[in-house]
Amino acid sequence: MKEYCGVVGIHGHKDAARLAYLALYALQHRGEESAGIASYDYKKVHLHKGMGLVGSVFNEEALKKLKGPVAIGHVRYSTTGSSVTKNVQPLLINHKKGFIAVAHNGNLTNSVELSNELEDSGSILQTTMDSELIVHYLVKDHKNNYREKIVPMFSKLEGAYSFVLMINDAIYAMRDPMGFRPLCLGKIDSAYVVASETCAFDMIGATYIRDIDPGEVVIIDRNGLTSLKAQPNTDLVPRHAFCIFEYIYFSRPDSNIFTKSVYMARKNLGRALAKEHPVKADFVMPIPDSGNYAALGYAEGSGLPLEMAYVRNHYIGRTFIQPSQLIRDFKVRVKLNPIRDVLKGKKVIIVEDSIVRGTTSRSRVRALREAGVSEIHMRVSCPPLVSPCFYGIDFPTKKELIAANKSIEEIRQFIGVDSLKYLSLDGMLSSMMLDRGEFCTACFTGNYPTKICKAPSKKALERKLCKGIRDV
Ligand code: 5GP
Ligand code: MG
Repeated sequence: MKEYCGVVGIHGHKDAARLAYLALYALQHRGEESAGIASYDYKKVHLHKGMGLVGSVFNEEALKKLKGPVAIGHVRYSTTGSSVTKNVQPLLINHKKGFIAVAHNGNLTNSVELSNELEDSGSILQTTMDSELIVHYLVKDHKNNYREKIVPMFSKLEGAYSFVLMINDAIYAMRDPMGFRPLCLGKIDSAYVVASETCAFDMIGATYIRDIDPGEVVIIDRNGLTSLKAQPNTDLVPRHAFCIFEYIYFSRPDSNIFTKSVYMARKNLGRALAKEHPVKADFVMPIPDSGNYAALGYAEGSGLPLEMAYVRNHYIGRTFIQPSQLIRDFKVRVKLNPIRDVLKGKKVIIVEDSIVRGTTSRSRVRALREAGVSEIHMRVSCPPLVSPCFYGIDFPTKKELIAANKSIEEIRQFIGVDSLKYLSLDGMLSSMMLDRGEFCTACFTGNYPTKICKAPSKKALERKLCKGIRDV
């Protein structure tokens, strides 16, 4: 199951749901398949969610119904299929002590064990979302209140989770002890806001305060803000595992995540790439939009001019038109068009943020050849992606990751470029503005910072609770 998400929560603002809606707009890149908001007006909880982009899921009528000063929201990328609609978040459950609404970003790596344990003790699971598991733990044992139950959850859950929960009149923002996914705290007027990325704060005019710490739950209610910390788990080596791919591709360049600017990180990656892999050429060009910032860094580092020789069409949204045999590579062509007059007869360096399957790169390169370039040198601002992600990035299985199966020379031939170079692991880590030990680099190294359950039961496989596990 793919969990590729953005979360937001607002407490104490008369337009909470509207602000959540705007914040979700800013987080749209974190998930384009579904969107939802739950709000609370101190009497009733309201929920609106559906498949599609934020702009199509919500309209004025829906927003009017989302009353109250407390709201959480979610955008999600998921696979297609019949189970999808019931997996749209926020997940809302009612029970005798009120309600719990969950918005989750990340992926639990022990969801199979947890679901077995819950089913053995009589729980009936409704969805295939690992986010549902925590609700079961929270409602069990009615004697204790939620504040007492939430901190012990840190020792139950393994893997990546940045949760925003709305439990009755309070918001709980919880980040796993390794801090895989970002989660930031901000303020607008007297209201607190939490969101996956700071670009959501800019959208609504909120001020960034700080990150939710790894292993911290921030509880926001009418009395203000309380911070609870995880008990240190002596079984685990205490370390952070910030997702480095958030900097390379996933987050928006106008965000600060893990306290540092994504834009600056991407430019640094480009500069390091220029230093490691220089080549003679007429100019540098990005593969837009994700390659723009590394290309800028490469141009600065190499002293070569930067040309925007690919024009991106911003109006396509999600294309439902299937490519026909008449129009090969339709999806790539409709998105990016090369400018012939700039490219004809030129030696070019194209900068790409990452190569996953290699298929889009291949089509883009073909379009450059058709435009008459004489040499294409491809530079990639991260090392080869060789291992799947179990912590929430939508990487295919090992079988589909081109660098897990082909040598760099074979990839060069497949893509059809004159030279292909990747940034080294060392070059990538030294480009970051944080200590190198702070990051998860499992997709580049295969060194997973948590244990990955390698032999899930058949039942669990059917439920796809452990994504991609078969191909470890
Ligand atoms: P490829 O050429 O390997 O088929 O695709 C690489 C392109 O996909 C790069 O331009 C990169 O920006 C983008 N990309 C990297 N990771 C992801 C991801 O997780 N999801 C999607 N949709 N695109 C990605
Ligand atoms: Mg890209």
